[in-house]
Amino acid sequence: MADRDGFIWYDGKLVPWREANTHVLTHSLHYGLAVFEGVRAYKTAKGTAIYRLAEHTQRLLNSARIYMMDIPYAKDVLMEAQKEVVRANKLESCYLRPIAFYGSEKMGISTVGATVHVAIAAWPWGAYLGEEGLEKGIRVKTSSYARHHVNVTMPRAKLAGAYTNSILANLEATRDGYDEALLLDTQGFVAEGSGENLFVVKDGVILEPEIASALTGITRDSVIRIARELGYDVQSRRLTRDDIYLADEAFFTGTAAEVTPIRELDNRVIGEGRRGPVTSKIQARFFDVVGGRAPEYESWLAYV
Ligand code: PMP
Repeated sequence: MADRDGFIWYDGKLVPWREANTHVLTHSLHYGLAVFEGVRAYKTAKGTAIYRLAEHTQRLLNSARIYMMDIPYAKDVLMEAQKEVVRANKLESCYLRPIAFYGSEKMGISTVGATVHVAIAAWPWGAYLGEEGLEKGIRVKTSSYARHHVNVTMPRAKLAGAYTNSILANLEATRDGYDEALLLDTQGFVAEGSGENLFVVKDGVILEPEIASALTGITRDSVIRIARELGYDVQSRRLTRDDIYLADEAFFTGTAAEVTPIRELDNRVIGEGRRGPVTSKIQARFFDVVGGRAPEYESWLAYV
């Protein structure tokens, strides 16, 4: 990732990609306290648009607030910087990665005295769980690792350190030949994927797990609004892994994963074992929304 052409916004300036470096004694590298976002920009008929830029930028600021990290840039500056990065790299559609982290002024747990840096990179990134996954659905395995308890890493924060838990779960599942992991909370109820929220469809109703140990996904929020607009009843409730075994359909949502059907969980085929009719409708509508083909959702698009 480091050796490529292009520009990264780094502490207020666009710097050549290969020069966007930091010292090995940077505090965040040692203690894991960095907050970040994953954002996508899509090509539309009216030009490239960053999807739900304001909401992603607000979540970055919220993550920082939870961890008492003072990001030295206002929301509008960070939003404009993200647009600038897409323009500078001449990207039509891409993934953006804003990150705020502590510098190398000091060692020791306390962040007091360490400077906050912000970087924003953008690059082309196709379907996170594969084009085939988007069409045919993926195979998922329940992880032996629990999702963080609500009083461990603070689930409303998109925190770099919290992703060690995602990595454990994802490696376990993928090394066993599955496409992704499903994590349960510390009480055994369904939480989320290693980088996705989950929905199931049962008897025409769309259900999501109560958002306790899971990240409050922005794609999740989009899907709830899209599903309701399509006339579906969407409910949040405590879900168990066998609720998913018995569901008619299941799918993951995320900025990277978009809307990815799940065709199997723990070797149980879900529904017909393919992208189901409700998932198909929501997925198609989602791609219309992000691609600028749904005028009602125009306010979610920030043209660069
Ligand atoms: N949960 C986790 C753990 C994630 O990393 C992500 C991706 N950011 C999501 C859920 C989905 O969130 P969003 O739709 O905002 O990308």
